[in-house]
Amino acid sequence: MELFNTLGGKVETLEPVGAAELRMYCCGPTVYDYGHIGNFRTFLHVDVLRRFLRQQGMALKFVMNITDVDDKIIRNASAAGKPIAEYTEKYERAFFEDSDALGILRPEIVAHATSCIPDMVGMIQKLAAEDIAYRAEDGSWYFRIARFPEYGKLSRKDFDGIEDGARVDVDEYEKDAARDFALWKACKAGEQSWDTDLGCGRPGWHIECSAMATKFLGESLDLHCGGEDLMFPHHENEIAQSEAASGHTFARHWMHVRFLLVEGRKMSKSEGNFYTLRDLLLKGYRASAIRFLLISVPYRHQMNFTFESLLESTNAIDRLRTFHQRMLKGGFAEGRDEALAAATAKAEEGYTASLTDDLNTAEARAAIFELVRAANSAADAGTLRSGNVTEILRVLDLFDGVFAVLKDNDAEITRAALVWAEHEGRLAEASPELVTKLSMPDEEIEKLVAERTHAKKVRNFARADGIRNELLAKGILIEDSKDGVRWRRK
Ligand code: AMP
Ligand code: ZN
Repeated sequence: MELFNTLGGKVETLEPVGAAELRMYCCGPTVYDYGHIGNFRTFLHVDVLRRFLRQQGMALKFVMNITDVDDKIIRNASAAGKPIAEYTEKYERAFFEDSDALGILRPEIVAHATSCIPDMVGMIQKLAAEDIAYRAEDGSWYFRIARFPEYGKLSRKDFDGIEDGARVDVDEYEKDAARDFALWKACKAGEQSWDTDLGCGRPGWHIECSAMATKFLGESLDLHCGGEDLMFPHHENEIAQSEAASGHTFARHWMHVRFLLVEGRKMSKSEGNFYTLRDLLLKGYRASAIRFLLISVPYRHQMNFTFESLLESTNAIDRLRTFHQRMLKGGFAEGRDEALAAATAKAEEGYTASLTDDLNTAEARAAIFELVRAANSAADAGTLRSGNVTEILRVLDLFDGVFAVLKDNDAEITRAALVWAEHEGRLAEASPELVTKLSMPDEEIEKLVAERTHAKKVRNFARADGIRNELLAKGILIEDSKDGVRWRRK
């Protein structure tokens, strides 16, 4: 497939070089809090890419790291009076629960920064042997950018102004040049640290990814992914460390997912303009609709988050699922309508061509909805035949292999979110309708209504009234009419 490569700034063929599988790395979350849906927009597009490459028959080895030590983690853990491992464990678990809820496939390898400290130390020592890494007076280690002339090749920034004075990396240690960035941060009282050959301290964020990517995927990767904010300085620094240490190209292909915005500004923790998946689930939005919305705008475009678009996405999924059920139900006459067969083939082609062309999810989605429209009108007009259904279901399956929204486990996911909210004392944030609806699922209501009908038949009026009151207390009304018994939620 063709994918835009930030390194070089053009669309290029994505392929494994010198190996049977595509070696792929994505910078994972820093587990100091719940992720917001902006973070998940990035992970969702990486998921779409993985699923599509697999569908195209490519073997993948995908590694994602978990940043489980950094300034924010240390600060928050100490505020909570917990060791960092205990603090991060909760948020890492939440990250994977949210990823699962959003249909994001698990990576082949999840690498924890705190489990790879010796690899980071080894890489810094290698750089130190060449005097590319140096030790500052306080015991911190820095990368000497002057020794890596290609610095800036990814983000194509002009660094001339930065050299004299401005600090790129926000840390408080002494260093030789303002641009030099920390590889290893000397230990401070009360902070988690490791005793190593470099001295006591903890790794900088950038060295984590260089060391972990190299450890699991080798010195040259096929593809490296992350959100657009990571391009500089994080990815630029990863390149500098890795290439200075190995002498090889670190990653041939770089994919950057553009931001999710709220009213024109980047969704972020620091702006306070963010929603977590759990916030939205408690408001009654469905996990599948959130996935569908976040992947429907191609990754090379920033997208604005609105609640209207989330509702549109919910409706779109309903349309798809209803259509899918209609096809599964069948009951169409034998044969094959040729015009619809041609439309089906065109939709399949459109789907594959769009994703092959730099992962154009919007066009892939449009191709499938065009098929839904054509097939629904053919079914309404009575021209759709059983031979068409087989093909249509195959194309829908193909689409769903990447978009993953047909299977309806939304209620189950929302119920889990309610259990979590109750546990965290945040049930008050949940919409009241949701609490009622999920406290009594439809099937349970049906059962009680049937039991009441039976109780009336055997003249057990006390039980019948009891059931009516029990349901009423949960906001469910029973209406007896001459056509039978109906129920509805208040
Ligand atoms: P973090 O946990 O802050 O390291 O972020 C995890 C991932 O989310 C990184 O790849 C970021 O680039 C990405 N990210 C952060 N904010 C946004 C946003 N508003 N839209 C899309 N991706 C984002
Ligand atoms: Zn990284």
